[in-house]
Order: sequence, then C-alpha cells, then structure tokens
Amino acid sequence: MTSPVEQAAELLRRTRFLLVLTGAGISAESGIPTFRGKDGLWNRYDPQDLATPEALARNPRLVWQWYNWRRGLILKARPNPGHEALVHLEQHFGDRFLLVTQNVDGLHQRAGSQRMVELHGNIFQEVCTRCGFERYHEATYPEEALPPACPQCGGLLRPGVVFFGETLPEEALRQAFAAARQADTALVIGTSAVVYPAAALPYEVKNHGGRLIEVNPEATPLTSLAEVSLHEPAGRVLPRLVRLLHSRNPKA
Ligand code: NAD
Ligand code: ZN
Repeated sequence: MTSPVEQAAELLRRTRFLLVLTGAGISAESGIPTFRGKDGLWNRYDPQDLATPEALARNPRLVWQWYNWRRGLILKARPNPGHEALVHLEQHFGDRFLLVTQNVDGLHQRAGSQRMVELHGNIFQEVCTRCGFERYHEATYPEEALPPACPQCGGLLRPGVVFFGETLPEEALRQAFAAARQADTALVIGTSAVVYPAAALPYEVKNHGGRLIEVNPEATPLTSLAEVSLHEPAGRVLPRLVRLLHSRNPKA
C-alpha cells in the first residue's frame, strides 16, 4: 500500500503546473493563531466583527489594537518547515508554479518564496483613509499612538489588508485565476476553504480537469473532492512530501 504522502509525491511528479493555495494553517506552527483557533486575549471578539470597514469606522482604536497585537506576534515569529518546503517546490517547478496566499503575515516571503501573490494584502501595509497615502511599516505602535494618523494629512490610517466584505486586489486575483486555469494540480494547505473568492480557486483547478492535494489536520469542504488528503500539520508533512518528490525510490 502506498501511503497518502507517497501518492501526493507521485501526483507532483506527474504535475506540469502547480498552484499552491495557503491559509492561516500554514503559519499556525510559527505561533500565529488561525481565526478559528483560540486567541486567548481576543477570544471574545469574532474576527468577522473586527476585520470590517464598519468596525474600523465605529471603533478604530479597538480594530488597531487587534492588528497591532497580531503584528507583534508576526514580528516575533519565524517561517516554519512548511513555508520552507514551499520554497523547494518553487525551485523544483520553476515558472510552472504559483503560490497564492490568503495570509497577510509575510512569512512566505521571509522564507524565500518569490513566485507568489497575496490575495488579502499585508498586515504591515498602511493606507490613509482620507488621502490615500501608502507605506510599508514593519513595526508595532505604542498603545498611546493608536489608532495611527497619516503622516501626510493626519487622517486615519488603516491596515492594508482586505477586510471582510471588501473586494480583492484586482491584479493578484487575475494572476491567481489565470494560474488556476493552467494548473493540473492544486496543493491546498491550511485553509478552511470557506472564504471566497479564494476558496473558488481549487474548484477552478478541478473544473479544468486538475487534481487536488489537501494538507489540513481537519476535514474541510474540499476534502471529499481531493485526490489525496494529508491530515497532518503542514510543517511536519510538507518537508516529507518534498523529500519523497526528489527521491528516485519512493520507498527510501
Ligand atoms: P481559517 O482560520 O479559517 O482556517 C485555518 C485552517 O488551518 C483550518 O482549516 C485548520 O484546520 C487548519 N490548520 C490548523 N493548523 C494547521 C497546521 N498546522 N497545518 C495545516 N493546517 C492547519 O483560515 P483561512 O482559511 O486562511 O481564512 C481566514 C482568513 O483570515 C484568511 O483571509 C486568512 O488569511 C486570514 N488570516 C490570516 C492569518 C495569517 O496571515 N497568518 C492568520 C489568521 C487569519
Ligand atoms: Zn492622509
């Protein structure tokens, strides 16, 4: 019997174009909580009530306290072996590869991924809600500086992320869907696969005759559609998958 991870490696060996879709789960082993996990301090808030334009308008300080807290966790975190395995896959596939992430933490870039798009923006990006001023600001704010003001006009800055209910950046979305039409395999990692339109990408691959490999300790709406499901933490199983892909003898 071939194990699921061997089956996944075999599928990758036969793959011409690989689309990888990641969600919060790939960063969980770096210590960054997923939205569905327990956040301790922020337990009593639903991210769906914080990551919205309405919440920012109603209580910008509260929204920024949450983003500022997440920034702090991200600055302390490091990419894990799951992120690193995806850098190896990118090297293996070259231009027959695109990594599409829903994450805003920048850990893929810190690991060394290059052929990638961020569908939901970046938590360190800042945009002025009044004049449109933008900057990348990789730092946390002291509590008394929240919410931060625009250095140009004094208006309210917002995090450069896609809030619930907002549209996704057009160019990133275009590239992601173009890759999904080309891909004969989608590797879907650590996403609950319920936030659209990102969640539509695996279906797009499937509709064009491609196959799915899912990496998630838990079952999701995609599990029953996947050729192979690896129900393990990404940081543990992805390095094994990459090793198997490179080994001539799969049993080794
Ligand atoms: P989600 O929180 O809805 O789902 C996370 C998924 O990861 C779950 O299905 C869970 O079973 C799985 N998971 C948990 N630990 C894992 C591990 N070690 N290995 C593999 N899978 C694991 O996240 P989502 O689907 O990405 O959607 C929520 C939205 O919030 C997205 O936009 C997401 O990017 C954003 N978000 C981003 C971050 C981040 O940037 N790190 C963190 C939280 C939420
Ligand atoms: Zn401004």
